[in-house]
Amino acid sequence: MTASATCCAVQGIAGVPVTVEADLSTGLPGFTVVGLTDRAIQEARVRVKAAVGNSGFDFPNRKLTVNLAPAELPKEGTGFDLAIAVAVLRCAGLQLRLTGTALLGELALDGGLRPVAGVLPMARCLRAAGVRRLVVPPGNAAEACLVEGLEVVAPLSLRACVEHLDGTAPLPPAIPGPPPPAPDGGVDLADIRGQATAKRALEIAAAGGHNLLMVGPPGSGKTMLARALASLLPDLVVEEGLEVAAVYSLRGALRDRPAASLRPPFRAPHHSISRAGLVGGGPGLARPGEISLAHRGVLFLDELCEFSRAHLEALRQPLEERTITVARVRGAVVFPASIALVAAANPCPCGHHEDAAQLCSCEPRALTAYQARLSGPVRDRIDLVVRVPRQAYGRLFDANPEEPSAAARSRVEAARGRQRDREEPAGAPLNALLDARRLLRTSRPTAAATRLLAAAGERLGLSARGFHRVLRVARTVADLAGEDRVGEDALAEALRHRGETGS
Ligand SMILES: [Zn+2]
Repeated sequence: MTASATCCAVQGIAGVPVTVEADLSTGLPGFTVVGLTDRAIQEARVRVKAAVGNSGFDFPNRKLTVNLAPAELPKEGTGFDLAIAVAVLRCAGLQLRLTGTALLGELALDGGLRPVAGVLPMARCLRAAGVRRLVVPPGNAAEACLVEGLEVVAPLSLRACVEHLDGTAPLPPAIPGPPPPAPDGGVDLADIRGQATAKRALEIAAAGGHNLLMVGPPGSGKTMLARALASLLPDLVVEEGLEVAAVYSLRGALRDRPAASLRPPFRAPHHSISRAGLVGGGPGLARPGEISLAHRGVLFLDELCEFSRAHLEALRQPLEERTITVARVRGAVVFPASIALVAAANPCPCGHHEDAAQLCSCEPRALTAYQARLSGPVRDRIDLVVRVPRQAYGRLFDANPEEPSAAARSRVEAARGRQRDREEPAGAPLNALLDARRLLRTSRPTAAATRLLAAAGERLGLSARGFHRVLRVARTVADLAGEDRVGEDALAEALRHRGETGS
C-alpha cells in the first residue's frame, strides 16, 4: 500500500516541489526515511511518530518506508514533517482528499503545528506548479496568503489538519492580514538640517543606483543621511516586494518587515557581524545574509574601515553581479543582492581631521594608514564620495523648512523613467550598472563637457575606471535635469562628487 503528499524545499530563494511517498509492506516493523540528510531524517522520524500517536491515531506497526522525491535534491529543515505524517496516515488507510493540495509545517511532539522558514517562496513555487490549496501552520498563514490564487488553511494541529482533509471538520480559508502601514518609520530628508551637498549626493545615488561613501566627523549625521536614502527610493512593484519578502521569509524574519511592504528595505549591520551574517551561509539550511536582506534597498556600512578586509572582499562580487553565491557542501546556492551601498567613515582614526570644531590628534603615519584602508576593497565599486561636515549649531535652529523626501523622490522617479525609456525594453540597467560601451552611447557628452572631462582627466590623473565613474554620475545628473546629453554642468557636478580618496 502506498500514498503520497506534496510539500516543498527551497534552493536559494527558489522553491522546488517535493513529493513524499509512503509505503507500507509486510516485514519487520520499522520506519525508514530516505531522501533527507542524516540528521534531519532522525529528527523527522521522532517528531512524526510522536505527533501521530499523540494526535489519537495509530502509528502503523508494519514496515514503513518514506521517500522524499526528487531524491538527489538536498533537503534540510523541518518543513516536511506535516506532509510525511499525512502521507503515512493516508497510507495506513485514512481517506484524505489531497488533490491539488500541498502541506508545509513542523510538528511538535504533541501534534501541534509550528511555523517554518521560507513559506512565501515555497507557496509561490507550489502555486506555479499547479497547487491550489495549501496547509500551513497558523504562524505562516499571513505570508502564504500573499500568493494569489492559493486557498490557505492554517490548522492548529495535525488532528485539525486530518479532520479538515477528511471532511469531518473543514476549516475556513485563512484571511489575508490587514495591509501594512504606509511608509515605514524611516528618516525623511526634512528631518535633517542643512547638509545640502550630501542630500544632493543621496538624490543622485537613488536616481542612478550609485554606491555612496560619506566621510565626516562623528556626530555629523551620516547615519541619518544613510537612512534617508531609503526614503528616496521609489516604491517596489508587487513582484519585487514579494521577492524581498521571500528573502525575509527564508530567515523566518517576516516579523522584522511587513510581508506585503513595498518600501525598499534598509539594513545596517554592525562591523562585528560574522561573514555568514553579512553575505549568507551558515550551518544547515543556507540562510541569506544582510546583503540579501537589503535586496532592492539600502545596505549601510557605518565605520567602513572597521569592517575586516575579508568581509569587504566578499561584497565585491555581489556589488558587481547583483547576486551572491554561497558555497555549500552540496552545491552552491544563489541569493539576490541588488543593493544600494552606503558606506560611512570618519576622516581619520580620531575622527576630527579637517573638523572645524576639534583638532585632529592622529599621528601622520596612522592617518596615512587609515586613508589607505579607506581606499580598500569596495572603494572601486563606489561612484560618489561626499564630505559630511559637522553642522554649525546655529544651523540646527534654522527655521526655514527643509525639502521633504517626497519631493526629491519624484525627481528620482522621473530620472529613473528616463533611464528605462532610453535603453532597450527589457531589463534596462540603472546608470551605475552601465558597461563602458553603453555608457558612452547613452551619455553623448557635449563638446564643452568633453573638453572639461579631458582637462580634469589630465589634472587628476584619472584612470579609465575613474573616467567612467565620473561619466556615469554625470549621466545621472543629466537625467535628473531632464537632459538628453551630458553637458558641462552635469559633468562639473559629477567631478565635485568624486571625493579625493582613490582614483
Ligand atoms: Zn584624527
